[in-house]
Amino acid sequence: MLCGHRRYRLGDEQVDGEDFTTSVACPSCDGNGENQDRAKLWRKHAYGWVAVGAGSIQAMQGEISRVVERALQAGRPEEAGRLMVEVCDCPRCQGSGEIEVSIAAFLRQERGAKVILPLGLIDHSGLSMYVGSGAHRHDPGGWDSGQVGVIFDTAETRSDRGMEDSRREEIERALRAEVDEYAQFLRGEVYGFTVTVTVTVTVSDSASDSLDSCWGFLGDLEYVRARANEAAECGARAARRESEEKHLMACRDIVTA
Ligand SMILES: [Zn+2]
Repeated sequence: MLCGHRRYRLGDEQVDGEDFTTSVACPSCDGNGENQDRAKLWRKHAYGWVAVGAGSIQAMQGEISRVVERALQAGRPEEAGRLMVEVCDCPRCQGSGEIEVSIAAFLRQERGAKVILPLGLIDHSGLSMYVGSGAHRHDPGGWDSGQVGVIFDTAETRSDRGMEDSRREEIERALRAEVDEYAQFLRGEVYGFTVTVTVTVTVSDSASDSLDSCWGFLGDLEYVRARANEAAECGARAARRESEEKHLMACRDIVTA
């Protein structure tokens, strides 16, 4: 998830700041910033270097050879040091070797994204996230909602989930499920349970002991209830076994005494 919000830090990466850029190596010059088809011929005068010709690199180097040859014939060998060919800047990147591309193009080219979905945020008495570039359906005016970023797959995430050969629809389904899960987290729908056993000796004397606990369940409260009940039954069985064993030991003591 790549997001940009002036107040919240959402998702895994922030689109603004220093951790994200959409610069890629210029495809016209392979990132070296040079225009291999065009060069300038410079000649040094008493007042500095002056461009005296332009054309292909070969043509300019040929021109230097001819000028130097003529100069040598005329007994002016110093002329060779007064000429140079300079390769022109790549016109696409102006010599920087990098160009800025759209976020979508960057994610496809540099991160290997196959599916890119827009991410919306609704900020109305709590936060929630959804897949979409427009306003949330409960906020048609778009006062409290709108796009904050994108979610996308990468070669790494596909490999982590065993989805290297998955179709686009399957990848999209996985990304949508991830957004749903993140939305549950944002809405605070995080649940857990603790199984405790309470031993009451007298009304004022009782002790509780934690047997089992599990936290961090997102969203599905029914599932958490089922897991909690299973854990409670398991704990109750263990407690029963323990008390039966204690009873047995006590009986043996009586018998052997
Ligand atoms: Zn370039």
